[in-house]
Amino acid sequence: MSKFENMENQNPINILAKMEQGIAFSAAMQEVPEVAFAHQPGCLCCSDGRFSPSDATLEKEGMAGQGILLLFNEVELNDFVAKLKINPEKPQIIASHEACGAAGLAFDAIKKLMAENQDEEVARIFAFLGISQLPTTSDELGVVYTKQLAKLTNIDYAHLELSPEKEHHNESGIIVTDLDFDERFIVTGEQQFFNSASAKLGLSDEYIKTELTELTKIAFGSHGRMGHHDNEIFHLLVISNPAGAARLSSIAEQVTNNQIFSGRVKVEVAVRE
Ligand SMILES: [Zn+2]
Repeated sequence: MSKFENMENQNPINILAKMEQGIAFSAAMQEVPEVAFAHQPGCLCCSDGRFSPSDATLEKEGMAGQGILLLFNEVELNDFVAKLKINPEKPQIIASHEACGAAGLAFDAIKKLMAENQDEEVARIFAFLGISQLPTTSDELGVVYTKQLAKLTNIDYAHLELSPEKEHHNESGIIVTDLDFDERFIVTGEQQFFNSASAKLGLSDEYIKTELTELTKIAFGSHGRMGHHDNEIFHLLVISNPAGAARLSSIAEQVTNNQIFSGRVKVEVAVRE
């Protein structure tokens, strides 16, 4: 029996409700069954909380735009591709998706480079993508990037459509993990969390900090939940082993200190011994 078949008999833990009742995140996480931490084939999907792998047997490994922001860091991009290609536990598929905010950021950043006549940098990015001109929409850019990443790492490619009832973001936090962790065990009903598994995939502190900051900005923007829920706290939920937890907590704390979030971002840590 697969893990997901097992899961049908498991009720996800409502982490937000537990925390509202005053139960510490670390204590609430003790109730998550062990099977949530078992390794299973993954989907490298966008961090976007509206999307999960369409194949219900795959575990989500989130990165903003599947790592599209790495286009602007040649060294880390090449390192990421090289490591992913030979990773024995690499995801089974890499998926782009409709209405990707991270692809939008990358699209705007490339347009800015073009406007500034940074020809060499634009040429480098286009060469990586295998294109000679910028696609007409950010979603097309996201597809081109994701297909290229899949090709370079010998991983199957997929595309996820946005279902109409999920038009709006509703994320209450970000699951920040470097472990095999199946987020379905803590996502209940309409709740959404962004997912950042970048640490698991070997990304740098600086990249992770940028990713968490950009995702938090989406949550606080006009399309995000925090933009319409003034009294709520946005949770950075660190789930890691002792060594990783110290590192990820430190990165997450730096995000909470960003004044644009007005002290409404808090780090919660669950250490897995
Ligand atoms: Zn996205």
